[in-house]
Amino acid sequence: MAKKYIYFFGKGKAEGNAEMKHLLGGKGANLAEMSRIGIPVPGGFTITAEVCKIYYENSKKYPIELYGQIESNLKKLENITNKKFGDKNNPLLVSVRSGAAVSMPGMMDTILNLGLNDKAVEGLSNLTNNPRFAWDSYRRFIQMFGNVAKGVPHHAFEHELEEIKRRVAKRKGIKDADSLVQEALNRQIPDTALEVDDLKMLVKHYKEIYKEYTHQDFPQDPKKQLMIAIDAVFGSWNNDRAIAYREINNIKGLLGTAVNIQMMVFGNMGDDSGTGVGFTRNPSTGENRLYGEFLMNAQGEDVVAGIRTPFPIDGLKKKNKKIYEELQNIRRKLEKHYKDMQDFEFTIERGKLYMLQTRTGKRTAQAAVKIAVDMVKEGLINKEEAIIRIKPEQIDQLLHPTFDEIEEKKAKVFSKEGLPASPGAAIGQAVFSAKDAEDWAKGGKDVILCRLETSPEDIRGMNAAKGILTARGGMTSHAAVVARGMGKCCVAGAGDIIMDEKSREMRCGELVVKEGDWISLNGSKGIVYIGKIKLISPKVSGPFGTIMKWADNIKKLGVRTNADTPHDTKVAVEFGAEGIGLCRTEHMFFEGERITSFRKMILAAPEVRLLRQALEQENNPQKIKEIESKLEGPLTQYLNALKELLPLQRKDFEGIFKELKGKPCTIRLLDPPLHEFLPHDASGQKALSKAMGVPLEKIKDTVESLKELNPMLGHRGCRLGITYPEITEMQTQAIIEAALNVHKNKIKVNPEIMVPLVGNVKELVLQKEIILNTIKKIKKEKKIKKMPFEIKIGTMIEVPRAALTAYEIAKVAEFFSFGTNDLTQMGCGFSRDDAGKFLGDYVKLGIYKTDPFQSLDIEGVGKMVEMAVALGKKARHNIKLGICGEHGGDSVSVKFCHRIGLTYVSCSPFRVTIARLSAAQAVIEENRAKKKVRRKKKQ
Ligand code: PEP
Ligand code: MG
Repeated sequence: MAKKYIYFFGKGKAEGNAEMKHLLGGKGANLAEMSRIGIPVPGGFTITAEVCKIYYENSKKYPIELYGQIESNLKKLENITNKKFGDKNNPLLVSVRSGAAVSMPGMMDTILNLGLNDKAVEGLSNLTNNPRFAWDSYRRFIQMFGNVAKGVPHHAFEHELEEIKRRVAKRKGIKDADSLVQEALNRQIPDTALEVDDLKMLVKHYKEIYKEYTHQDFPQDPKKQLMIAIDAVFGSWNNDRAIAYREINNIKGLLGTAVNIQMMVFGNMGDDSGTGVGFTRNPSTGENRLYGEFLMNAQGEDVVAGIRTPFPIDGLKKKNKKIYEELQNIRRKLEKHYKDMQDFEFTIERGKLYMLQTRTGKRTAQAAVKIAVDMVKEGLINKEEAIIRIKPEQIDQLLHPTFDEIEEKKAKVFSKEGLPASPGAAIGQAVFSAKDAEDWAKGGKDVILCRLETSPEDIRGMNAAKGILTARGGMTSHAAVVARGMGKCCVAGAGDIIMDEKSREMRCGELVVKEGDWISLNGSKGIVYIGKIKLISPKVSGPFGTIMKWADNIKKLGVRTNADTPHDTKVAVEFGAEGIGLCRTEHMFFEGERITSFRKMILAAPEVRLLRQALEQENNPQKIKEIESKLEGPLTQYLNALKELLPLQRKDFEGIFKELKGKPCTIRLLDPPLHEFLPHDASGQKALSKAMGVPLEKIKDTVESLKELNPMLGHRGCRLGITYPEITEMQTQAIIEAALNVHKNKIKVNPEIMVPLVGNVKELVLQKEIILNTIKKIKKEKKIKKMPFEIKIGTMIEVPRAALTAYEIAKVAEFFSFGTNDLTQMGCGFSRDDAGKFLGDYVKLGIYKTDPFQSLDIEGVGKMVEMAVALGKKARHNIKLGICGEHGGDSVSVKFCHRIGLTYVSCSPFRVTIARLSAAQAVIEENRAKKKVRRKKKQ
């Protein structure tokens, strides 16, 4: 039997269903499904995405069977519609639309009214008794077909339309018709003001334009039209904007696009017809009520393209109560069936409602969590499903700051008439083209992209901007839909703004914003302000808090944070951190006075080290004395500097312990190479010499002596503590004394001391000895018999050798924390600081699926982690295992950490909620996979 390339739907039946998205695309699969469940859908058929794949693999040729299948499906469609394709009396007109498995709004092309020609237009005119409608449909078809299928520029048609409108304006006696600017002309002579003869004239001119650009007559054979349109849709799969969209959204592994050919229904047949788009719930806030927009006497493209500003859907109740209620019923039916919020398109043709599309609605993060929590309460889904539905990356949007309310009240309003198209707050400099947005953002600037309206070509600029502002278009315009998808703040359709993209400025009343001026957008209210407004941090409350609580009840992994100040610790604990997994002590040395003390220590340290080495090798008592006297000065400076640092570090730790209130706190001993703390440029060195009263030469010499060719593999990590044991002593003393002080105030403490960059167990043994001796000394000094709290001593596993010898290391270490930043660097052999130069290409070529510094290289670096976990557990069954590299906040990596049995992940404060959610999702996914296996076994 010939392979099936086409699936038919219509009249309450369908060959496909919603599960077949991969083959039929989202649109085709859902049209089939709607048809099955009795929702009114115009009949049609879907050419599979597999044909798209074959088309590209086979030098743009179709499988031979396709032609016959198109013929037979057209016949079927003619039968159920009682119309005939190409018939001059009763023509069947169709739409031709793309639709991939993953929705790519506005990315590909659509052709409407296909099947019209010079004869059919007359037939349609007689049949409908509405010549205006017939000729309007024909001119739209020529324009869409010419533009989409043959690349005739849009403006060529628009120019012609403008000419006709001027003629009409003159006919109507409008003054200065010739000099009216386009906007004013459109306002005075809307498309609906064109009469039959105007439209006939327009069709004539459009056909001439078509010929001028294509050197061919406009095709009159509908079958030929159809094949050209199918070619165009498949061709659009690889147009620039579709490629850019897939790149930005990391969409991979699709066959291609399917093509949907469907009987046309018309929203432009008069005042009892119309078109609209809707959501079963508010995609911006999640509110549970019908949401959308409509226009009477219009075709769908008018709404989506933002050419005419539509009305809120509530208004339909007044215009046509019956249709409004039917829509409400369909909304309920769709949600009950799909158990998720749907985004749909509809058309009313002479009082009859048709659904043209439904798909899972894109939503803001706020809406996503509210809808998920509400649907659990409504009994539509369970808690696990609610948790799985939230995309961890989307959580980031909930953590974006909002405007400080008091400051916002005082701010100068530029425009208040915009729509709250995508919530949040954004501050940036105004730019007026997508290209500028991209260029300015590349230069490190925060920009707001200000446009009359956006189109799919603007996608990269929109992605680069902090926020988007448009003067035209509704809540479902391109700008609004795309911004919501990107989680980007957007104010759309601010009708009081005169957007002058050419002069790079916009006006609202008396106020002018020029390119580069700072503006602030409130995407939740639709307001634009002049200047910058202070931002405030978000909170985990409301539905977001509920979801996170559910997640905590399910997850098994602990979630800690990487923080090294009391403030960051507080923020992280508010986000649900269960402790600190990495406190990088070196960050503390950069603040205020400390850097001076730290530098004093560094300036003396190399000399101390050299003289100590000399002493070790010397046997001559006289020489020993000489060296000892030379050592005295630098050693005093070195030890004094450490003494100065001790109370400062102690205070830092006290602050952190107080915030943690007994939650575990892993403090890592000094890690970076010492030269990172000294200025490398001449002016910095001069300033330091002056400030510290040290000769410039001395500073230069020290910098020179500390220089390394490969510092990431150099004198850093525990290698510092081994060479300079006093640093380890001072840091241990600061940690223990801080813990004792806080504990004295009846606040629980739980310190863990972590040795970095261990590769050989002997390094850890030596450092542990220093730590234990220091603790012993403190106990003795303070006359403490037993420390009133537990102190764990462990290590980072970030050198491949440590992972390989984890069994030996675990005998000494009470915990491991995987430093996957360094483990990736040393495991893959990619410099952390330089790999950006080529990793982008690596990902594009598929050598690595994602940047291994962002998402753990599970097959390689992950293997080392997995192996070290097994070896560590073998040596010490209750060993605590964590991860503190950047991967601790990456959803895919967190799920991996769950699978291999880590105790916790640790990440930056703003990623704590992402990690909590991912950890819960890991459990749910695991349970679902087990269930599937059980089910398979039973079968
Ligand atoms: C690591 O290497 O993964 C780590 C957490 O340490 P750092 O990034 O400070 O080197
Ligand atoms: Mg490291």
